[in-house]
Amino acid sequence: MDKIPVAVLGATGMVGQRFVQLLADHPWFEIRALTGSERTAGGIYQEVCRWVLDEDIPAGIGEMAVSATNASLPARILFSALPSRAARQVEPVLAEAGYIVCSNASAFRQEPDVPLIIPEVNGDHLALLEYQRQNRGWPGLLVTSPNCTATGLVMPLKPLHDAFGVAQVFVTTLQAVSGAGHPGVPYLDIIDNVIPNIAGEAEKIQDETRLLLGHMDAGRRLPGGMELSVQTNRVPVIDGHTVNMTIKFERPPSPEDAAEVLSAFRGPDPVPGLPSAPAELILVRNEPDRPQPRRDRDASAGMSVTVGSIQPCPILDLRLISVVHNTLRGAASGSILNAELLVAQVYAG
Ligand code: NAP
Repeated sequence: MDKIPVAVLGATGMVGQRFVQLLADHPWFEIRALTGSERTAGGIYQEVCRWVLDEDIPAGIGEMAVSATNASLPARILFSALPSRAARQVEPVLAEAGYIVCSNASAFRQEPDVPLIIPEVNGDHLALLEYQRQNRGWPGLLVTSPNCTATGLVMPLKPLHDAFGVAQVFVTTLQAVSGAGHPGVPYLDIIDNVIPNIAGEAEKIQDETRLLLGHMDAGRRLPGGMELSVQTNRVPVIDGHTVNMTIKFERPPSPEDAAEVLSAFRGPDPVPGLPSAPAELILVRNEPDRPQPRRDRDASAGMSVTVGSIQPCPILDLRLISVVHNTLRGAASGSILNAELLVAQVYAG
């Protein structure tokens, strides 16, 4: 098929750069526009973008102009890596102008007519688009990806919830600095340090986890009923969020049974066949010192979540640790997978 023209909104930022890296060689999508704020719009991408990824800017992209973020972009799908405040203003305008907007921002994740999707977990929530169409009358649409840490929590919770019923979860996070965007946390604050209580993060993780583990009922989304208590920390790691979780189940499994269910987790069709879907969603490591962000974040090109230290808990039932790549599965790659699912399912043909 002809490649679908796409644009990256906020292409100069941390997540925007990941989109550029991933989309430069995508089998279905082709970058036709890059946007920035007033600070960078009008400039040449390689001159105004402070590129921080290990690989160079992909060939042919560095010379592109950075456009303003508005409704005159030569694209069908827009990947939004905008800060929440900008997203709240511009994303509805773009959906109203007919674009398919796949957003990483938190601005609309809680709206009852906006799907919040991890394709393998709750791709069926795309059915909310019908409600969105009725409600807003947009010729385009808006779909969101979750908070990056919520992704690292929900991916293991989903198969465990389906098999054993998750009742309560205590969560402690160790989150990488790239999760704060670029330039992010001042280095004098974070080197040799751990900074607790990332503003607004615990609430997002709690609320989004319930939405992602919820179910559709008569065209509406009902959140999951599990209780969560979340504490967040920023740590001096570049990429890769670590999520420590302790879980109470309705039907408590042994660590071995939990590991088996986690390893067997697969998304429903057509997700496993999509270009960005990994062969294995959850990699279970048995070594006592895994997972580690530096060694596990890039598993399956950053699309698998690695789980380890699955142990009985003397207070609740079971504890485990997951590592997710926050700017790949937790942001840009996750959002591209959402777009692939939209193309395969909703807009096929
Ligand atoms: P970032 O590094 O601060 O990048 C923000 C981008 O948005 C830049 O390209 C910036 O352009 C542009 N921008 C800022 N204000 C704008 C405006 N008013 N109009 C148009 N463009 C504007 O942030 P990030 O970490 O990439 O995060 C982007 C979004 O993804 C956020 O909503 C964040 O919550 C979400 N997210 C981030 C992660 C992560 O791990 N970082 C994970 C999941 C979700 P200029 O260069 O011109 O300023």
